[in-house]
Amino acid sequence: MKQLRCSLFVGLAVATFAANAAEPFNIAITVDDLPAHGSVLAPGATRAGIADTFVKTLKAHGVPEAFGFVNARALAVEPNSVQVLDIWRKAGYPLGNHTYSHLSIDSAETQDVWERDVEAGEGPIVPRMAGADWRYFRYPFLAAGSDPVRREGGYAFLRMRGYKIADVSVTFNDWDYTDAYTRCAAKGDYSSIEAMKAQYLKGVDDEIARMRSASQQVYGRMIPQVLLLHLGAFSALTLGDVMKRLDAAGARYVTLAQAQTDPAYAQPGNGMVIARAAKERGIQLPGGQMDRLNLNTLCR
Ligand SMILES: [Zn+2]
Repeated sequence: MKQLRCSLFVGLAVATFAANAAEPFNIAITVDDLPAHGSVLAPGATRAGIADTFVKTLKAHGVPEAFGFVNARALAVEPNSVQVLDIWRKAGYPLGNHTYSHLSIDSAETQDVWERDVEAGEGPIVPRMAGADWRYFRYPFLAAGSDPVRREGGYAFLRMRGYKIADVSVTFNDWDYTDAYTRCAAKGDYSSIEAMKAQYLKGVDDEIARMRSASQQVYGRMIPQVLLLHLGAFSALTLGDVMKRLDAAGARYVTLAQAQTDPAYAQPGNGMVIARAAKERGIQLPGGQMDRLNLNTLCR
């Protein structure tokens, strides 16, 4: 009897853990650096092909909206990449502004220079978003300004132009793999690519778990999440596996506007929202896993 009760208890504990692990949560998907994340492409890859993979994969997983944040300068560098914006719009997904040249407000010579870069970024977005709300802004490098005067000035400028800030609560650091992947693909080093994929997807699982626990620790509840991805070849290659992991974790896909109705998103600022709130409240969050691969030297 004692034995039976004991195993019943274990069974219950396992069931509770499993239920928690897949407890549903809302998440908006956002994608940065349209039309071209990463300055070079691996042989055979195209910007349009990457965008196509993104759109098809997100649609297959029932994602109703994926805001795409544009750096218009890439269109001057790679004129063909304009197809990306049209693929995105044809899918019914919206475009927002990520500055013209991916300029950080911290590294801009003056605030005025940065503001002109924001304005210049609107060019290709406005005609493609006729009748829809394109006034969402994603800070390059998630830098809202380390100097408080510039931060307030930049934010006031964005508000005056009618922008809402597209905040971020979770990222899997896909950008970190972009250049190494391009090098390995050019060399045909598929075992390194497999190692990168394995590490990245392990990181996705870890970050989903961290996102849950950090949200509980800071807010005492699971806030709606905003995921940041980048429109690069490695991100496209792994997106199907990422979406499967999100599905299995209980993700319910919502729009950016829906996610950001939550009071957690009331005050924008530097970096990501949960980490920012933790810092403000003096809460220590556990650190992430250390990567095993040296992505800076891989396939050099
Ligand atoms: Zn970016």
